Order: sequence, then C-alpha cells, then structure tokens
Amino acid sequence: MSPSGSERRPRPAVRDRARPPTDRPLSPGSTLLVDLDGVVADQLPVLCDYLREAYGFDGGPADVDEWSYEVPGADTHIGTVITELMDERPEWFFGGMDPVPGAPDALAALQEEYRVEIATHRLPETHDVSRAWLDEHDVPYDAFHEEVPANKGALPGEALVDDYHGNVANAVDAGKVGVLMRQPYSDPSVCGDAHIVESWDDVTELLL
Ligand SMILES: [Mg+2]
Repeated sequence: MSPSGSERRPRPAVRDRARPPTDRPLSPGSTLLVDLDGVVADQLPVLCDYLREAYGFDGGPADVDEWSYEVPGADTHIGTVITELMDERPEWFFGGMDPVPGAPDALAALQEEYRVEIATHRLPETHDVSRAWLDEHDVPYDAFHEEVPANKGALPGEALVDDYHGNVANAVDAGKVGVLMRQPYSDPSVCGDAHIVESWDDVTELLL
C-alpha cells in the first residue's frame, strides 16, 4: 500500500445535491474498492489501437461487446491479448491509457467521505507502472492492494466499483455494495442487486 498524490489536486466543493448519509447505500467512513481497467483507466481505446496494428482490426471500443470477445482475423480472444500486453508491454499499454472521464475529480470527492482503495487484477509486477500512472494523472487514492484474490469479494471493504460483472457479483455475494460501471462487454444481468452506472457522475450521485 502506498500514499497517493491527492494533496496536489484542489478538491471539489461539497456538492449542493449531496444527500444525508442515511439516504445513501454506503455509510461515511466505509472502504470503497475501486478497479482500474475500464473504471479509472480507459482501456478500450488503447486496446483497439493495438488490435488495429497487430490484427488489422477495423472496429472500435463499442464492438468489444463480450468479456471473451473473439478478435476478428485472429485466433485469439481479447483476454489473451490483454494478458500478453500486460506481460510484455505494460508501460506502453497501461501508461498509454487516458483516465476515464471524471474519474480523478470523482475519486477526490468520494475521498471526502470514504476510504478509496485500488483493487486491480493487473499483474503485481506491473503495479509500479500503475502507481506512476495514477500519480501522473492526479488520481487520488488511500491505498493500493498489492495482492488481489480472484474473488474480489474476499477483500476487506464495504463496496466495489468494477466493470467486470463477475467481480461485482462476487462483491454482492460477500455482502458488499456492488457498483457495475457498464462497458460494452459488461453483463448487468448477473450482478444481482448491484447498482449499474454509466459514468463517474453516476457514482458520485449514488454515493454522495
Ligand atoms: Mg476492470
């Protein structure tokens, strides 16, 4: 775990629309686990660039509509490509992503009420690249989990924001507040009582 660079960013004023804590799904002081890819880091544009270069892919992010998307013209699926890039070109892949719009400001606002902990299934060997990226883009957080079990529901914490329906379902099963940040490949139908959001504005509206 490491401290964040959150001191560098002026925090947004408390919003007028903030609700009393008793009306929110999460109590102030709770720990909010936050995934990186597809949640804080905009993964699909960089991935599509790579698919174009390597396999002549002519689609865009909206075409990657399944978690195990089969890449046209390639004898592989997207999960294998991600694993290879993470293993072989982590600086290019992770370092080249933009933040998901609104993520840095939303996390700064959420930090006023909650503890924000990064929980990603990226390879632990790439965590230094990820932390440098978070600092570079002024993304604040309170802690970064070095080891994340396959079941994110097993981590301590009261809520999870993730784009993978399987992780959100595990969190809900473990009694956490699940928040699915919907991407083209997310399947909200398997997330039980999770909150389904489209943006960081939706997250702050839900939790603040
Ligand atoms: Mg993700």
